[in-house]
Amino acid sequence: MTEKKDMSKREISLQRADELKSKINDYLEARENIQKGLELEEEFQKSKENILNILGGTEEDWDDYKWQLKNRIRDVETLSKIINLSDKEKQEVKEITGRYRWAISPYYASLINKNDKYDPIKLLSVPTVAEIVNKGGERDPMGEEFTNPAGSVTRRYPDRLIINVTNECAMYCRHCQRRRNIGQKDEHRSNEMIQQSIDYIRDNPEIRDVLITGGDPLTLPTHRLEWILKELKSIQHVEYIRIGSRTLVTMPQRITDELVDVLKKYHPIYINTHFNHPKEVTKESKAACEKLANAGIPLGNQAVLLNGINNDKFVMRCLNHELLKVRVRPYYIFHAKHVEGTEHFNTSVDDGLEIMEYLRGYTSGLAIPTYIVNAPKGQGKTPMLPEYLISRGKDYIMIRTWEGKVIKYANYPTQDFKEIVK
Ligand code: SF4
Repeated sequence: MTEKKDMSKREISLQRADELKSKINDYLEARENIQKGLELEEEFQKSKENILNILGGTEEDWDDYKWQLKNRIRDVETLSKIINLSDKEKQEVKEITGRYRWAISPYYASLINKNDKYDPIKLLSVPTVAEIVNKGGERDPMGEEFTNPAGSVTRRYPDRLIINVTNECAMYCRHCQRRRNIGQKDEHRSNEMIQQSIDYIRDNPEIRDVLITGGDPLTLPTHRLEWILKELKSIQHVEYIRIGSRTLVTMPQRITDELVDVLKKYHPIYINTHFNHPKEVTKESKAACEKLANAGIPLGNQAVLLNGINNDKFVMRCLNHELLKVRVRPYYIFHAKHVEGTEHFNTSVDDGLEIMEYLRGYTSGLAIPTYIVNAPKGQGKTPMLPEYLISRGKDYIMIRTWEGKVIKYANYPTQDFKEIVK
């Protein structure tokens, strides 16, 4: 104490700055080895040229989302020209085909390091036998089939709901939490079904927030999407519209000027996307995010905590930083549900809590999403946090700071603070 008293304010500040620096060195070191899409442009470009050769496409085709959708890779022969697959892996992909749908946009395939068996983009997009070997998991752990009061609506909360408009995606994620809806062929919901959903919203004035999702709603033709937006916008009690789309990650070519011009007519519009790994944040996805952000559309990210992809405190921290660089706010980390065929991606809740522990304080609040466990059978999103309130007395609480210091804190503002904490 006397020693501290003798130090100048500057000396104390410098000592504290050194202490803080020592708390980030491990991350800085680990970050060097984390693959980041914005640093791999050269590698992606080579891969893109190779894929264009294989598919017989041009640079212009590459930038056209309709070409990307039409040319999704969906057979093992084409896939094995793009990435190196052992005979065993080829056999595994064949075994999954027909059981669980797979297809990868040429763009997303270009992000795979063809020689790395454990490349995160590969693990997220290429089927493995783990999908059928692990027998655990449920088809519909959220009981969504019991929350469908009309059309293609899912309603789980008092003031908001989801309209499911398609089962089509640019890439079928191996961890998809709604894989039961994906089926085997692309199917946009019928006009009739969407109309029934819109009518339900019109008839229920407490619905103020509508989320359009799928599949991926941005695989819909722009004019069809505009019809839905226009109908929703005409309902007075709908205060804003949200769109959930992974095309920003898996087919950023979809974010055309034409689409953005349509979206901005129906403000307030919010888009939540789904980046899981810093390697997915690339020059192209950055351009797509910036285009939307420049049109006044706030962007949020809903990552899923996945074994072998991002269940690592440094990878998740890095992902959140990469997202903020491209104007996407980390919004949720979802604890993966126990969905049939995806069990190999499941992690412990402890993994998620450890990540949260190493975000708070270690990085800015902007880079800290909420970690969510979805309570089974649609009982709702439940936030998970490490313990910061560790006990309480009549007039005080005991709190733990991000550095692990335990501090007594007065409960009521009117109390004599000095008296309580002494
Ligand atoms: S984009 Fe979404 S709905 Fe489509 S496969 Fe991936 S997680 Fe499932």
